[in-house]
Amino acid sequence: MKIPTFEDIWQNSLQWQPTQEQLEKWEILYQEILLINRQINLTRITEPQEFWEKHLWDSLAGVIGLDFLNYKDSLKVIDIGTGAGFPGLPISIIFPHWQLTLLDSTQKKIKVINLFLEALKLSNSQTVVGRAEAIGHLPQHREKYDLGLIRAVGEPSVCAEYVLPFLKIGGIGVLYRGNWETQEEINLKAALKKLGGKIILVKQLRTPLTKSVRHFIYIKKVVLTPEQFPRDVGIPKQKPL
Ligand code: SAM
Repeated sequence: MKIPTFEDIWQNSLQWQPTQEQLEKWEILYQEILLINRQINLTRITEPQEFWEKHLWDSLAGVIGLDFLNYKDSLKVIDIGTGAGFPGLPISIIFPHWQLTLLDSTQKKIKVINLFLEALKLSNSQTVVGRAEAIGHLPQHREKYDLGLIRAVGEPSVCAEYVLPFLKIGGIGVLYRGNWETQEEINLKAALKKLGGKIILVKQLRTPLTKSVRHFIYIKKVVLTPEQFPRDVGIPKQKPL
């Protein structure tokens, strides 16, 4: 029996085949993360299979195979609360013609990502240190992005308040979630009414190795987000919409 390789699994689960160059870059990213992790605690996910599934596969699963994205366009993308660079870095590797902004409030993490960008020669990506609540009001970032990604940063309505201000009208926010509860969807819809967005798709997938449940919630910005959002630093988490 042929044992499936990671490449086979990509093809089966995402209908997509990475190039040799992309595979090599992920290997470099993995090795860099292991190296830095000896000095600072960047991520708990360091075993090869777990890294592949939870960091690489998961990051890409949120943006691959969507009929409402024009993949050939040079999309402007922001990853909010990127941490060690997920989902942003794997996406930056597979779409070199997209322009990525990796945002995190922790200076230490952004410094490390800058090292990764250098090692990976990723000139399509830039980093920003700051809180989404503050950066989302700056004219150079507000309403400037086609795609906003957010994984493991907070509850859905908080994520929506962070993401929507960054999107152009027609732009798409992607919330990376594990389980997806009815009450979360009700709360998210109520928040989106205030923020100028609507849910256009809820996609459920199983991860290819451990068969864990993933949900990707796609939000479209339909009208301008009122100036009062995002609210002051800390308020979205303290008092979700
Ligand atoms: N997205 C990464 C992932 O899925 O591996 C990191 C998730 S980590 C649990 C949450 C990250 O969000 C942290 O790096 C934290 O510094 C950042 N963060 C939390 N609140 C933020 C905010 N308001 N603005 C910007 N970054 C924020």
